[in-house]
Amino acid sequence: MSNRIILLGSGNRNKGIEIGRLLEPTGIRLVTLAEMPAVPEVVEDGTTFAENAAKKVTEYARHFKMWTVAEDSGLSVDALGGAPGIYSSRFSGEEHSDEKNNDLLLEKLQGVPLEKRTAHYTCSMAVADPQGEIRFTCEEYCCGRILFERHGRNGFGYDPLFEVVEYHRSFGDLSPLLKSVISHRARAIRRFISAAQKLFDGTVPE
Ligand code: IMP
Repeated sequence: MSNRIILLGSGNRNKGIEIGRLLEPTGIRLVTLAEMPAVPEVVEDGTTFAENAAKKVTEYARHFKMWTVAEDSGLSVDALGGAPGIYSSRFSGEEHSDEKNNDLLLEKLQGVPLEKRTAHYTCSMAVADPQGEIRFTCEEYCCGRILFERHGRNGFGYDPLFEVVEYHRSFGDLSPLLKSVISHRARAIRRFISAAQKLFDGTVPE
């Protein structure tokens, strides 16, 4: 499977780093949108993670005529009825940032006791061939709960507030290596890797 190239249909640098690291041992090289010319805008107007992932992967694969992987991910908090969910990146509005999103999350959970702060990350992944046909999909999760304050500097997004209960630590505190084994994105990419050999079978130039 050496020299296989796949485009990541995402402008999120952190996702590129995490996914690129996971693909490294397979010989599949990840190219990101940052390396591509004239990237079209894809509006994420789906109502589920899966719909958004499908839309991104189809449009980028067709446009660039490349095998493409895209994912839509986010945090769902039980006490907030599943919010922010598909709105995770823009939770704090137009001028959103990880800092503002985390502040808003803490504000909305004020007074909610630890046992009721359960949450999960979702990663919905889709892979399309150069014609834009979806050839693989999967959805994976990572369960935890939302802490009362930020812990650690690793990861991105909601990671400083997301406690992985088995480890009694946040993803902000836990090492990138451990996140690359247990995260929602790691679980999804492992499923893609195990399907990749059959999927690519003779269709991707070496
Ligand atoms: P997307 O780029 O539209 O899929 O938005 C994903 C958003 O979900 C990110 O901007 C984060 O706010 C959140 N998110 C997804 N995965 C993670 C993760 O692994 N750690 C922390 N936040 C995440």
